[in-house]
Amino acid sequence: MSVIEELTAELARLPGIGRKTATRLTYHLLKQPAAVVTRLARAIEAVAERVHPCATCGNLSEIDPCAICADARRDGSVICVVEEASDIGAIERSGEFRGRYHVLGGRLSPLDGIGPEDLRIGELRGRVANGSGVREVILATNPSMEGEVTATYLRGVLEGEGVIVSRIALGLPIGGELEYADGVTIARALTARRAMGEG
Ligand SMILES: [Zn+2]
Repeated sequence: MSVIEELTAELARLPGIGRKTATRLTYHLLKQPAAVVTRLARAIEAVAERVHPCATCGNLSEIDPCAICADARRDGSVICVVEEASDIGAIERSGEFRGRYHVLGGRLSPLDGIGPEDLRIGELRGRVANGSGVREVILATNPSMEGEVTATYLRGVLEGEGVIVSRIALGLPIGGELEYADGVTIARALTARRAMGEG
């Protein structure tokens, strides 16, 4: 395989990029000055080397604990559970939430073979275990069928832990992704969250 084919193959592995787009991107890069391409390559290398999940919440960060976990001004008694680290940015942009986060690393999806043991659920239990000072867990998984199933499962897991478990309101379009929702919609979904029960 030539290096051109190699790059095309690597780009084609990215989500949303088919063979055709990968080829177009490759030839676009080949036309750029070497410095531009090197800068892109270095940026990719840097995130691979320096960004890691926060040991506490799973947020992707260059420091551990991440800036949100380390921020003493944030409310440690409320944890917002999200599917992916990229969801944190969307919620932060809404400016509505001042608590901490917990990244599951996906959602329950039997069809894809993703079960509870593949998500950071044990870590969540550890964080809310009695005596930890957590008083509310907001389930902000996506409003998709899998997101709902995941929220219901977590509700069961957290039963008896002595915390209020709430679910973000369905102001978000069903099947929509939190990551792409605007700040106002997310703020509304958070404010109008409803309790799923108290354990
Ligand atoms: Zn963190």
